[in-house]
Amino acid sequence: MLRPFWVDLHVHTLLSPCGELEMGAPEIAEKAREAGLDIIGIADHNSCENFPGVSEAAKGNPVVLPCIETQSAEDIHILCVFPNYDTALAYKKWLWKRIRPIPNDVDTFGYQIVVDACNNIVKEEETLLIQGAGYEVDQIVAKVHEVGAVAILAHVDRPAFSYPAALGPMPADYPADAFELSRRLNYEEAQKWRERYPAPRAFIRSSDSHSLDTLSRANCTKMTLAEPTFEEIRKALRGEEGRRISWPWG
Ligand SMILES: [Zn+2]
Ligand SMILES: [Zn+2]
Repeated sequence: MLRPFWVDLHVHTLLSPCGELEMGAPEIAEKAREAGLDIIGIADHNSCENFPGVSEAAKGNPVVLPCIETQSAEDIHILCVFPNYDTALAYKKWLWKRIRPIPNDVDTFGYQIVVDACNNIVKEEETLLIQGAGYEVDQIVAKVHEVGAVAILAHVDRPAFSYPAALGPMPADYPADAFELSRRLNYEEAQKWRERYPAPRAFIRSSDSHSLDTLSRANCTKMTLAEPTFEEIRKALRGEEGRRISWPWG
């Protein structure tokens, strides 16, 4: 039976240098549960290593999916959503062939910490995560599809780190699975995107949370699914078998 699920695929943790230290594994799981979110994606910059900790802390409520917010050579952010952690790690291995060994400067950018389900520190990531990898956006989208994952152009409305900021308007048939809009948009602003890129182009809204207070149903996307899984989300993005995405500003 199909029913609505609240989905936020873009949540940072304390592994992202810009993520607040309060974005620990049990804290994210608990706040997402409190906020009534059914599925969250753990999406740190160029990495996914806090997925196991958050996933274990959440114990299936909410369901946690491994994601990576990849930064391309053109400084475009692509939200990559993976069916499982092994696939995310295989993709990350490919990505990191072209990540430069620039050390993180904690004073300038912030800590980059990997934790387990109880917030014990597993490691501190020493390579700066907010850098453009040596792959262009088209190569990244193609690779994500090759590994069986989903590629979403992140915050396309934003004046920095977005496809339009780097390359101008997206072609209508650009081979991404969806475009993401920021939670900051109001109804009219969002409506313009809908008109510019009509259905079947899929849009999602995500919180892009760097702190706990933005985890909320008001900042995410309602999807009609049979169950809270990656495959069901993919069907919803394609509008298959009755699965669908509700227009977030509807
Ligand atoms: Zn971003
Ligand atoms: Zn982000």
